[in-house]
Amino acid sequence: MLEYMTDDIFEKILTGEVPAEVVYEDDLTFAFLDINPNNPGHTLVISKKHFLNIFDVDIDTFSAVMRTVHALAPVIKKAVDADGVNIHMNNDPGAGQVVPHLHVHIIPRHEGDGFTLWHGKPYEEGVGAETAAKIRAGLV
Ligand code: 5GP
Repeated sequence: MLEYMTDDIFEKILTGEVPAEVVYEDDLTFAFLDINPNNPGHTLVISKKHFLNIFDVDIDTFSAVMRTVHALAPVIKKAVDADGVNIHMNNDPGAGQVVPHLHVHIIPRHEGDGFTLWHGKPYEEGVGAETAAKIRAGLV
Protein backbone atom coordinates (compact mmCIF):
# COMPACT_ATOMS: atom_id res chain seq x y z
CA MET A 1 0.00 0.00 0.00
CA LEU A 2 1.46 3.35 -1.07
CA GLU A 3 1.66 6.17 1.50
CA TYR A 4 0.75 9.86 1.11
CA MET A 5 3.84 11.98 0.49
CA THR A 6 2.75 15.06 2.49
CA ASP A 7 0.59 16.07 5.44
CA ASP A 8 -2.73 17.89 4.88
CA ILE A 9 -1.37 21.23 3.68
CA PHE A 10 -4.87 22.16 2.44
CA GLU A 11 -6.17 22.24 6.03
CA LYS A 12 -3.56 24.93 6.70
CA ILE A 13 -4.69 26.85 3.61
CA LEU A 14 -8.29 26.65 4.90
CA THR A 15 -7.32 28.11 8.27
CA GLY A 16 -5.13 30.79 6.66
CA GLU A 17 -1.97 29.41 8.26
CA VAL A 18 -0.54 28.85 4.76
CA PRO A 19 -1.27 31.55 2.16
CA ALA A 20 -2.96 30.81 -1.16
CA GLU A 21 -4.62 32.68 -4.02
CA VAL A 22 -8.22 32.03 -3.02
CA VAL A 23 -10.77 32.39 -5.83
CA TYR A 24 -14.02 31.12 -4.25
CA GLU A 25 -15.54 30.01 -0.97
CA ASP A 26 -18.96 28.87 0.27
CA ASP A 27 -20.27 26.93 3.27
CA LEU A 28 -18.95 23.55 2.09
CA THR A 29 -16.23 24.25 -0.45
CA PHE A 30 -13.11 26.32 -1.02
CA ALA A 31 -11.08 26.98 -4.18
CA PHE A 32 -7.58 28.35 -4.72
CA LEU A 33 -4.84 28.35 -7.34
CA ASP A 34 -2.52 25.35 -7.48
CA ILE A 35 1.00 26.41 -6.46
CA ASN A 36 2.54 24.45 -9.37
CA PRO A 37 0.06 24.98 -12.20
CA ASN A 38 0.03 23.00 -15.41
CA ASN A 39 -1.15 26.30 -16.87
CA PRO A 40 -2.05 29.64 -15.21
CA GLY A 41 -5.51 29.39 -13.63
CA HIS A 42 -5.04 25.73 -12.58
CA THR A 43 -7.40 25.65 -9.60
CA LEU A 44 -8.05 23.20 -6.78
CA VAL A 45 -11.58 22.84 -5.38
CA ILE A 46 -11.63 21.22 -1.95
CA SER A 47 -14.21 20.29 0.66
CA LYS A 48 -14.02 22.35 3.86
CA LYS A 49 -14.73 19.24 5.92
CA HIS A 50 -11.86 16.81 5.83
CA PHE A 51 -12.20 13.80 3.57
CA LEU A 52 -9.36 11.92 1.93
CA ASN A 53 -10.91 11.46 -1.48
CA ILE A 54 -13.78 9.86 -3.46
CA PHE A 55 -13.66 6.74 -1.29
CA ASP A 56 -14.69 8.33 2.01
CA VAL A 57 -16.59 11.49 1.03
CA ASP A 58 -20.38 11.60 1.47
CA ILE A 59 -22.47 12.32 -1.60
CA ASP A 60 -23.77 15.71 -0.36
CA THR A 61 -20.25 17.05 0.17
CA PHE A 62 -19.02 15.64 -3.12
CA SER A 63 -22.02 17.14 -4.91
CA ALA A 64 -21.19 20.52 -3.38
CA VAL A 65 -17.58 20.22 -4.58
CA MET A 66 -18.74 19.35 -8.08
CA ARG A 67 -21.27 22.20 -8.02
CA THR A 68 -18.36 24.56 -7.36
CA VAL A 69 -16.29 22.91 -10.13
CA HIS A 70 -19.24 23.39 -12.49
CA ALA A 71 -19.55 27.07 -11.56
CA LEU A 72 -15.83 27.83 -11.75
CA ALA A 73 -14.83 25.94 -14.91
CA PRO A 74 -16.37 28.38 -17.42
CA VAL A 75 -15.22 31.40 -15.40
CA ILE A 76 -11.62 30.12 -15.32
CA LYS A 77 -11.72 29.21 -19.02
CA LYS A 78 -12.77 32.77 -19.84
CA ALA A 79 -10.38 34.43 -17.37
CA VAL A 80 -7.28 32.83 -18.90
CA ASP A 81 -8.66 32.64 -22.44
CA ALA A 82 -8.21 28.85 -22.50
CA ASP A 83 -9.23 26.53 -25.33
CA GLY A 84 -10.71 24.06 -22.84
CA VAL A 85 -10.34 22.68 -19.33
CA ASN A 86 -9.58 19.26 -17.87
CA ILE A 87 -11.40 18.27 -14.67
CA HIS A 88 -9.17 15.83 -12.85
CA MET A 89 -9.12 14.03 -9.51
CA ASN A 90 -6.45 11.73 -8.07
CA ASN A 91 -7.77 9.23 -5.54
CA ASP A 92 -5.26 7.41 -3.32
CA PRO A 93 -1.46 7.55 -3.63
CA GLY A 94 -1.63 4.69 -6.12
CA ALA A 95 -3.41 7.09 -8.49
CA GLY A 96 -0.99 9.96 -7.91
CA GLN A 97 -2.76 11.68 -5.01
CA VAL A 98 -0.13 13.59 -3.04
CA VAL A 99 -2.18 15.74 -0.63
CA PRO A 100 -4.49 13.73 1.69
CA HIS A 101 -7.50 16.08 1.45
CA LEU A 102 -10.27 15.70 -1.14
CA HIS A 103 -9.66 17.96 -4.13
CA VAL A 104 -10.62 18.32 -7.77
CA HIS A 105 -8.27 19.96 -10.29
CA ILE A 106 -9.59 22.42 -12.87
CA ILE A 107 -6.81 22.67 -15.47
CA PRO A 108 -7.09 25.25 -18.24
CA ARG A 109 -5.77 24.00 -21.57
CA HIS A 110 -4.31 25.78 -24.56
CA GLU A 111 -3.65 24.31 -27.96
CA GLY A 112 -0.07 23.04 -28.08
CA ASP A 113 0.53 23.46 -24.32
CA GLY A 114 2.27 20.09 -24.18
CA PHE A 115 0.22 18.75 -21.24
CA THR A 116 -0.20 15.07 -22.04
CA LEU A 117 -2.98 12.75 -20.94
CA TRP A 118 -2.72 8.99 -20.56
CA HIS A 119 -2.72 6.79 -23.65
CA GLY A 120 -5.19 3.91 -23.73
CA LYS A 121 -4.80 0.51 -25.30
CA PRO A 122 -7.55 -1.85 -26.51
CA TYR A 123 -8.77 -4.80 -24.38
CA GLU A 124 -7.47 -8.24 -25.19
CA GLU A 125 -10.16 -10.69 -26.34
CA GLY A 126 -12.80 -11.21 -23.61
CA VAL A 127 -11.17 -8.99 -20.98
CA GLY A 128 -13.55 -6.05 -21.54
CA ALA A 129 -16.62 -8.24 -21.03
CA GLU A 130 -15.05 -9.90 -17.96
CA THR A 131 -14.16 -6.52 -16.45
CA ALA A 132 -17.62 -5.05 -17.09
CA ALA A 133 -19.19 -8.15 -15.47
CA LYS A 134 -17.06 -7.67 -12.34
CA ILE A 135 -18.10 -4.02 -12.10
CA ARG A 136 -21.80 -4.85 -12.57
CA ALA A 137 -21.50 -7.57 -9.91
CA GLY A 138 -20.00 -5.01 -7.51
CA LEU A 139 -23.08 -2.81 -7.84
CA VAL A 140 -25.53 -5.37 -6.43
P1 5GP B 1 -2.66 15.68 -6.11
O1 5GP B 1 -1.53 14.98 -6.81
O2 5GP B 1 -2.70 15.35 -4.63
O3 5GP B 1 -3.97 15.50 -6.81
O4 5GP B 1 -2.32 17.21 -6.28
C1 5GP B 1 -1.99 18.06 -5.24
C2 5GP B 1 -1.79 19.42 -5.83
O5 5GP B 1 -1.61 20.33 -4.76
C3 5GP B 1 -0.53 19.53 -6.73
O6 5GP B 1 -0.93 19.93 -8.04
C4 5GP B 1 0.31 20.59 -6.04
O7 5GP B 1 0.96 21.47 -6.93
C5 5GP B 1 -0.69 21.31 -5.15
N1 5GP B 1 -0.11 21.84 -3.92
C6 5GP B 1 0.71 21.17 -3.07
N2 5GP B 1 1.06 21.96 -2.05
C7 5GP B 1 0.44 23.14 -2.26
C8 5GP B 1 0.43 24.37 -1.52
O8 5GP B 1 1.04 24.53 -0.48
N3 5GP B 1 -0.33 25.38 -2.03
C9 5GP B 1 -1.04 25.24 -3.19
N4 5GP B 1 -1.75 26.29 -3.60
N5 5GP B 1 -1.05 24.10 -3.91
C10 5GP B 1 -0.31 23.07 -3.45
